[in-house]
Amino acid sequence: MVRLIDVPTLQRFVARRGVETVLAELTDAIEAAYVRWDEFDKSPRHATHFDHGVIELMPVADATRYACKYVNGHPGNPKDGRMTVAALGILSDVASGYPLLVSEMTLLTALRTAATSAMVVRHCARPDSQTLALIGTGAQSEFQTLAIGNERPLRQIRFYDVDPAAMEKYAHNMAEQNLELLPCASFDEAVAGADVVTVATAIKDHQSLLTPAMLRPGMHINAVGGDCPGKTELDPAVLPACDIIVEYEPQTRIEGEIQGSDLAVTEFHEIARGRRAGRLSSEAITLFDSVGFALEDHAALNWLYANLRGATEVNLIPDADDPRDLFAMLQPPAPAYGRAASF
Ligand code: NAD
Repeated sequence: MVRLIDVPTLQRFVARRGVETVLAELTDAIEAAYVRWDEFDKSPRHATHFDHGVIELMPVADATRYACKYVNGHPGNPKDGRMTVAALGILSDVASGYPLLVSEMTLLTALRTAATSAMVVRHCARPDSQTLALIGTGAQSEFQTLAIGNERPLRQIRFYDVDPAAMEKYAHNMAEQNLELLPCASFDEAVAGADVVTVATAIKDHQSLLTPAMLRPGMHINAVGGDCPGKTELDPAVLPACDIIVEYEPQTRIEGEIQGSDLAVTEFHEIARGRRAGRLSSEAITLFDSVGFALEDHAALNWLYANLRGATEVNLIPDADDPRDLFAMLQPPAPAYGRAASF
């Protein structure tokens, strides 16, 4: 039997545990996976590109569990009432190859993406960071705010989106948080004075939203939305001024802000394993070039498997009496004496 976690099941589970707690637990779980970096069989994700979006498969495995996520990125979806990013996940037992868990992964992706930003903030942002600039107040934005708030004493959020309805939605969702919410009229206004900047827009194009003039010594930037070839958010002139942290260099060279550049980068596992500090000086500008790596999904699915008990189990894998006689499972039952079989 395979455990099935649909959207209502995940909603109930997160509501019981609390979103901030879930984000904190996922941050720890993902960091623990980065510490075990050498134990994973890793590869860049498989992406199928279309003019209007992308569909990706993201596999990764350690010695006991294999995980794979199906995820799309369709920036035009919201205008048709659909999400930009939707995902499904599968977790399998390496010993038998049998699936253990099939899960919704749209909510879980937002949670793990925010937890991953928070994990890098934990090591790279200045400890006294109090002001977060949030650019793009779409589906990921509240999760980013709460996860980063778990790691740093945030007081003020300066937020900006080209769509006023998205800004209203964000302000409504964050109203109960103990945060000063400052709606801004432009990207520049939002970034001015920020200690941490998260950019999470969704445009399939090379954008130059963050320019060198907006950089401030000691700033930490999470560039979350540039996650596909031909889809970036930062002016490339920003990059040489930054200490660039990536998840998995072979994938980020294809998809991240550094696509097409040969600038030196640090893979985050070096920091997680204590081989170098996240922040090398109080003046350094750190940039997390986030694209989303399968390891984070592996950690999130394992965390879910360990913690979410009582989910429905479904019969997705045939349980044949003789495992080499699959054919018998499709045969009509033997007729009862004196009656024709019906099926
Ligand atoms: P979304 O469509 O829900 O939100 C994107 C928001 O950005 C929208 O509200 C849109 O109005 C706004 N926007 C677009 N251009 C802008 C601009 N120039 N300035 C300010 N705001 C602008 O998308 P989402 O689910 O929140 O995802 C955001 C981005 O993050 C997407 O590009 C997605 O592909 C990416 N993403 C990355 C990861 C990762 O692991 N790195 C994971 C999930 C999503």
